[in-house]
Amino acid sequence: METTAERRVLVVEDERAIADAVAARLRAEGFLVQIVGDGPSAVEAARRIPPDVIVLDVMLPGFDGLEVCRRIQAERPTPVLMLTARGEETDLLVGLAVGADDYMAKPFSMRELAARVHALLRRVNKVAAPKAGPPTLRFGDLEINQAERRVLRGGAEKHLTPTEFDLLVHLARAPRTVLPRERLLADVWGWADASGTRTVDSHIKGLRRKLGADLIRTVHGVGYALEVDR
Ligand code: CA
Repeated sequence: METTAERRVLVVEDERAIADAVAARLRAEGFLVQIVGDGPSAVEAARRIPPDVIVLDVMLPGFDGLEVCRRIQAERPTPVLMLTARGEETDLLVGLAVGADDYMAKPFSMRELAARVHALLRRVNKVAAPKAGPPTLRFGDLEINQAERRVLRGGAEKHLTPTEFDLLVHLARAPRTVLPRERLLADVWGWADASGTRTVDSHIKGLRRKLGADLIRTVHGVGYALEVDR
């Protein structure tokens, strides 16, 4: 049973009407919500609260949501749902590259927003409390500690975002097996809709950048596989 008790959401949006509507919906769902309206305040609030989830608009005064995301993820990896203007493909791709976990294009329904926030929290909780299986997965020089959510390669710690970690764990539970992008999207992000498969591609790119390009194989038109010895 998922509980939202004491769950904190930071809403970062300078358009007051949108911020208030998002906050009202999330409060009705039982979240503790704080609103800030510019980049510097967002980084400061994320440090002070700290939130369980951040709903982050891209267009902000001070510095933009992409810079906010970059700074927050560098300090303390936190699930981020990014809000983008419709058609702003660049914002979306950069947002995923700087560590956002999910995105929604404006305008969006408050029902969909609440569903996405719940899905983000479920994912974080699920991997934070792993079910069966060894707490640490080892493949050659790659070590994935599921209990502590830490990853080492060649003895060096690699700092992954929560979503990158979840994606890596999914690939590592079925090494050398091709996992379709649609399935990864459904299992890691909780989406049934295949329209977000580029989200998967962006996070794979992040994993390769941090862990080495050799680790994950692309099977064109299908999906990805972790290329390690079983
Ligand atoms: Ca805005």
